[in-house]
Amino acid sequence: MSDQTMPFQLTILGTSSALPTSNRYPTAQVLNVLGRFFLIDCGEGTQTQMRKFKIGFSKIDHIFITHLHGDHIFGLIGLISTMILLGRDKDLHIYSYSELQKYISAQLSFIYPGEIPFKIAYHPLNYKREQLIYEDKKVSVYSFPLTHRVPTCGFRFEEKSGLPNLIPEKIKEYNIPIRERQRIKEGGDFLTNEGFVIPHSELTTHRFKSRSFAFCSDTRFDESYIESVRNVDLLYHEATFAHDNQELAHSTFHSTGKDAATIALKAQVGKLLIGHFSARYKDNLPILKEAQEIFPETKAISEGDVIQVEKKKS
Ligand SMILES: [Zn+2]
Repeated sequence: MSDQTMPFQLTILGTSSALPTSNRYPTAQVLNVLGRFFLIDCGEGTQTQMRKFKIGFSKIDHIFITHLHGDHIFGLIGLISTMILLGRDKDLHIYSYSELQKYISAQLSFIYPGEIPFKIAYHPLNYKREQLIYEDKKVSVYSFPLTHRVPTCGFRFEEKSGLPNLIPEKIKEYNIPIRERQRIKEGGDFLTNEGFVIPHSELTTHRFKSRSFAFCSDTRFDESYIESVRNVDLLYHEATFAHDNQELAHSTFHSTGKDAATIALKAQVGKLLIGHFSARYKDNLPILKEAQEIFPETKAISEGDVIQVEKKKS
């Protein structure tokens, strides 16, 4: 099985901006990268949406918070309280502006005067430059600064372009000893006892190309973060307003559909998702249309959408 068949999948939990509407939830998305579930932002009602769209609370070990505005964090205390009620005992990692710790601790100590049964590890973000904030054998996550009224970071999630796999039948056929296998994976050929050279390409599956997703919200249009999202397969970019509200977008440090699409075009991403729609738009079609005029591969997200991240065509 190639790693391309492993999940790299985004579930949309909320698509609205700050003011509540009757049919949208504030920002939250869950990205499943090879079985790791990353929660990105946690607006009010996130835990209800997780229930609705069948994301188990215990699967979430890492939460990435772009900035400390209510529509991106009001769901945190509810979600953490539920984790306590459910008897969680493993660590929870939160990547955010450093002040978040005070905000969460104050609420927790009010509700739970004793110790809570698991550790919350806070990881402060760098708002000046791009930074690697999480890494394991298969996945890397980077933060990078955006341009909003308060310190804000976007995130980029990358599958690592791992080594190819050895083909089991070939290991058997040539009786390849264990001590030789890592060397072959790294590009070496195999020399048989009879002196035949079996090339690396015959012994291994093709190296897969890694997939990537970037998340940009909230931000004003600014070319400074284009390099951080260049060539990603899927980009989520906020599009709070349509172009007729461009001045409002600029003064409130938000983007229009046109802005989001321009970033997608300049960064040569594979596909674009837009969301964080202002409550003034009952229908997001005007925002979507103006984005598609610039970047046709644009989709306006809705609650419950499940989107596969696929390698973009080069
Ligand atoms: Zn927001």
